[in-house]
Formats: sequence, C-alpha cells, structure tokens
Amino acid sequence: MIALKKPEILILGAGYGGLMTAVNLQKKLGVDEAHITIINKHDYHYQSTWLHEGAAGTIHQDQIRIPIKDVITQHKVKFLKDTVIEIRPNEKQVILENNKLTYDYLVIGLGFEPETFGIKGLKEHALFIRSINSVRFIREHIEYCFAAYNNESEKRDELLTIVVGGAGFTGIELLGELANRIPELCREFDIDRRKVRLICVEAAPTALPGFNPALVEYAMNQLERKGIEFKIGTAIKECTETSIIVAKDENVEEIKAATVIWAAGVRGNSIVEKSGFEAMRGRVKVNSDLRAPGYDHVFIIGDCALVINEEIDRPYPPTAQIAIQMAETCADNLVALVRGKDNLKEFVPDIKGTVCSLGHDDAMGVVFGEKQLYGAQASIMKKVIDNRYLWKLGGLSLVLKKGKLNFF
Ligand code: FAD
Ligand code: NAD
Repeated sequence: MIALKKPEILILGAGYGGLMTAVNLQKKLGVDEAHITIINKHDYHYQSTWLHEGAAGTIHQDQIRIPIKDVITQHKVKFLKDTVIEIRPNEKQVILENNKLTYDYLVIGLGFEPETFGIKGLKEHALFIRSINSVRFIREHIEYCFAAYNNESEKRDELLTIVVGGAGFTGIELLGELANRIPELCREFDIDRRKVRLICVEAAPTALPGFNPALVEYAMNQLERKGIEFKIGTAIKECTETSIIVAKDENVEEIKAATVIWAAGVRGNSIVEKSGFEAMRGRVKVNSDLRAPGYDHVFIIGDCALVINEEIDRPYPPTAQIAIQMAETCADNLVALVRGKDNLKEFVPDIKGTVCSLGHDDAMGVVFGEKQLYGAQASIMKKVIDNRYLWKLGGLSLVLKKGKLNFF
C-alpha cells in the first residue's frame, strides 16, 4: 500500500492570528494528518496590544514577549525562525531569507506596519510602535533625552518635549502610559515635571473619531488632568530631525521636539502586495471563509485581511480580537480541507466590545453591546481581556507567568 503524503501547512507570522491558528491546529489535527510549520522572524511572539507599555517603560519588554516554543507542541508544530521575503501563490512557494519552502496550504498572518501616508520626514525621523525592538528603542530614547537635559551646558527644552501623532486607540493608550511614567522619569533624572511637554496631535475634529463621545470626553479629561496637551483638528505635515510641523486650517506651527512617536495609522504587511495579492493598504478583502480571492490554498488572517461590516458598509478595524477569532475559523477550515471536506465555515466576527486603557490604573470602554465602563471597573475589565488571551494561548501557567495579575 502506498502511504499518502501528508499535506504541508505553512503559517507565516506568529502574531495573534498565526500563533492562535497553530495552537488551534495542534489541538484539532492528529500528528499523522499534516505537517504544520510556523515561521516567524523572531523566536518569540509579542503581544502587540501591550507594545505601548513597553515604549513608555511602564512594563519591561520581557513581559510582552513569549517564547514560541513555550506554546507550541513541538512534535505537532515545527517552528522555523526566518524572515518571509516573498510569497509566490501561483507556484505555492514561500521565499524566506534563508530558505525556500513549498506548501499545500498557506496561512498569511504577517500583521501590521505603520502607515505614514507619504508624510515628509516621518520614516527618517519619527519613532514607531511596531515590535519589541522598536518599543525598546523608544523607551531608551526618552530616557537618553532626559539624561542629556541636565548633562548639557545649554538646557534644550526640546529634549523634554514628546509628540504623539494620532489620538486613535494606540495614541490614547500610549499617552495614558506616558502620563504615568513621566513623573517617575522626572524623579529619576532630577527634572521639574513642569518642564516636560507631552503633546498629542490629531487631525480629525475629535480624539478617537467614531467612538462614543462620552467615553472620549472622559479619556481626554483624564489625560489633560495629567498634563497632556491635545491639538485636535491639527494634522502632522512634516517631521524634521529636531521638530514636527503641524497645521490647523491655515495656521502652520513648528514644534521643537526630540521625540516624535507616530501612532496615526497602520496598514497590512507590504509583503502581501509585493507578492501580487490585490490589497488596500496591505489588506486583502478575503472571501467569507478567509481564503484569498482566486487562491483556494491561501488563507489570510489578522491585520493583513479585510472583512466588511455589512451593517455600516465599512471594514472592521484591524484588532487582536478579530485576529484571534479568525484563527479559530481558519484552523477549522484547514482541518476540513485536510480531511477532504469542502463545507468551509464562514467567518462571522463576534465583537465583544472595546476597552481602551489610560495607564495601568484607568480605562474606559464599551462591552457587551452598549455597557459603558469607566475608571477602575474598565481597567479591571481590560486586564481580564488580556489574561483571557493568555489563557487561550497557553493555559493557566502562561497567565501566571505573563499575565496582569495586579488589578489595582
Ligand atoms: P501581529 O500581531 O502584528 O503579528 C505579526 C507577526 O508576524 C509578528 O510576530 C511579526 O514579527 C511577524 N512578521 C512580520 N513580518 C514578518 C516577516 N517578513 N517574516 C517573518 N515574520 C514576520 N487590538 C485589540 O483587539 N485590543 C487592543 O487592546 C489592542 N491594543 C493595541 C495596542 C497597540 C499599541 C497596537 C499597536 C495595536 C493594538 N491592537 C489591539 C491591534 C492588534 O495589536 C492587532 O490588530 C494585532 O496585533 C494583529 O494581529 P496579527 O496576528 O495580524 O499580527
Ligand atoms: P487608527 O487608524 O485607529 O488611528 C489613527 C489616528 O491618527 C486617527 O485618529 C487619525 O485621524 C489620526 N491621524 C491620521 N493622520 C494624521 C496626521 N497626519 N496627523 C495627525 N493625526 C493623524 O490607528 P491606531 O490607533 O494605531 O489603531 C490601529 C488599530 O488597532 C485599530 O483598528 C484600533 O482599533 C486597534 N487598537 C485597538 C486598541 C483597543 O482596543 N484598546 C488599542 C490600540 C489599537
């Protein structure tokens, strides 16, 4: 009897979508049913949803990252540390920095990149919340600026000016962490808190455009109380080595700042477009079963996928919540295909709410439909959500190792 070849499943990216697909598959498929390989450029998974905390320095980056081998069952899923360069869907091939692999089924979960909209000087001079490396750099850069301030004969105020571009959820969550961290840094580096400027520049007529206005007002009041200056209805136009140029209507202003952090937009990984998939800002409008149009052997999940919310005829915002849910549907559909079935599941997002932290001790958000939460209650809910993900990924031991167990 001729043994049938086991199908090769390649998962690109060990973010929320990719790693949860691997974890779901290792539970659902037997070892003799498929070869599963997950490829990631680092040997750790990082929780993108905590990156702003690493950037501000309110948590250490080691709490944000989890060794991939700690959560995969290695006799069922193989981990390969490598960087994806290109996908060749017509040849069912993936080109890596150090290898070339073929697949029967592919899962693309390569996540997000900053979107700078071609604004002059941003790529060269701004800092980005993107990975462990980038947020460690932001934390060290801010500390360096604070250390330099008192060490130079001429006191340069721009060393103590931090501009955050964008008051979307990333910008607001980052400001919440910075607002708590700055007083600590001032004590550590002998700096008068009143010398430090923390400025948020938002182009839309409100912070968190489209979100519940009462919650937005709460967030802004809380952050302003801690010394954040908001420039709303003001767009970043250019970033230079020493400043940022912003405009409100006809008024153009240059703000001298040694630290500019761009949190004003993301896009899907550019490898997706470079590999020939039709995409809008790196996001492919996937079929209802999460497969790429025209490529029945390719699933695209997480921030590289675009799914329309039919109720408002707009795409769902790219979130970890959706990436994790996509991973469940994607794994179920892969199991069906491996077992020769063609009744694939439709992906139906189940949005449980949105909670936005304002530092470790404050938050606001909407859960279970329309229930609004503020302050300590919202902050506890946010930590419960974070711990729930760790539970799904690696059970109680991972919650105990990496979870947020200090609720107050
Ligand atoms: P990612 O999490 O981006 O993972 C992609 C993986 O692919 C990474 O491991 C990366 O290293 C790897 N990779 C990338 N390129 C390559 C390559 N070429 N080769 C090999 N590997 C590669 N969403 C929420 O639901 N709730 C929140 O509270 C929340 N908070 C957030 C806070 C911040 C600061 C940010 C930035 C985002 C937040 N989000 C939140 C959004 C959420 O983080 C993203 O939607 C989510 O990370 C997308 O998951 P993903 O699996 O698609 O990709
Ligand atoms: P975003 O696109 O949601 O927000 C970017 C903000 O920057 C917008 O308010 C936009 O008006 C502003 N902006 C754009 N160009 C600008 C310019 N030139 N000058 C000034 N402001 C400008 O991006 P994000 O906040 O990074 O969020 C990315 C995704 O991650 C979203 O889907 C979001 O829902 C998700 N996220 C969720 C949470 C949470 O649930 N707690 C936290 C962070 C991020």
